Amino acid sequence: MSIGYVYDSIYLKHDTGGHVENPQRLSETMDVLTKAGLLEQLINIPARPATEEELLKVHTASHIQNVKNSATSGGGWLDGDTVTSPQSFEAALYAAGGLLNALDWVMERKVDSAFALVRPPGHHAIGNCAMGFCLFNNVAVAAKQAIDKYKLDRVLIVDFDVHHGNGTQDSFYNEHRVLYFSNHLSPYYPGTGSVEQTGRGAGLGYTLNVPMPAHCGDAEYLKVFDEVLLPAARAYKPQLILVSAGYDAHWADHLAFMNVSTAGFAQITRRLLTMASDLCDGKLLFVLEGGYNVDALAQSIRATFDVLLGKKNINDPIGPAPENGNTPDITNLIEQITKTHQLM
Ligand SMILES: [Zn+2]
Repeated sequence: MSIGYVYDSIYLKHDTGGHVENPQRLSETMDVLTKAGLLEQLINIPARPATEEELLKVHTASHIQNVKNSATSGGGWLDGDTVTSPQSFEAALYAAGGLLNALDWVMERKVDSAFALVRPPGHHAIGNCAMGFCLFNNVAVAAKQAIDKYKLDRVLIVDFDVHHGNGTQDSFYNEHRVLYFSNHLSPYYPGTGSVEQTGRGAGLGYTLNVPMPAHCGDAEYLKVFDEVLLPAARAYKPQLILVSAGYDAHWADHLAFMNVSTAGFAQITRRLLTMASDLCDGKLLFVLEGGYNVDALAQSIRATFDVLLGKKNINDPIGPAPENGNTPDITNLIEQITKTHQLM
């Protein structure tokens, strides 16, 4: 197994001050990967800035200019949640471009799979504005590149961040060459992602939302992966799987109310790895989205790499979610989605 990763110190220069989406998320992750001896088992894929032409596949010229102006004029708030600092524009270009390099390495089989450890994150950013800590929609830019450069017709995006990736959904709502799957906490930010949102026109049926109630843990997540994602992926026959990997569904993450453990994220990764090797010659590319408890984030990313590297025993120093006795029953939800999308 050759597994790549993208990381560049420019990602720490998107300085958000005391914000929950801060450079410590990545610096702690790199510390944990280094101490676990993982970096020497992984292949470093260099980052690069995305070009304006590449960003224009998803974003308007005025949005790109707005982010640039905000950063170069010293930084400031783009919305109530999303802030820039002087080097944020450059960091955001490298976040999207780092993922594009990783896409090349996966498509050209220089690595089996890869994980782009980038920030700022991307899945809330829509065509004409920044939103929810996200400046440019990294995964959407990569999916467009996969279609244009590698002539793919079927790209599966799996978004397990605890929030719905409204920007990604929006980018491909009319598009059948991308199947967008998201399981997320609902009701919650950003308010989109209902079962009924299934796409439009040529994209009808190619948006698959699983809005989950609070307190879902490993068992519920794996049930959704096994009973919704897997049959949908088998029917779609993706040529590439992109993963919007947010770890804010971890039980120790205080930004949301889910109960997934580090060991649970490892099992999710195992499902994705099997799916990719069965359906698309193992072409699997992760990009970091959320995850705001830095210990839980770093350990969960470490566990993700351990699985990608083929390790059998996955260490979970954070432990299982505390018992709270109110595990939700998602049987009806899964039935509803199965019926809506005619999954078997
Ligand atoms: Zn999130």
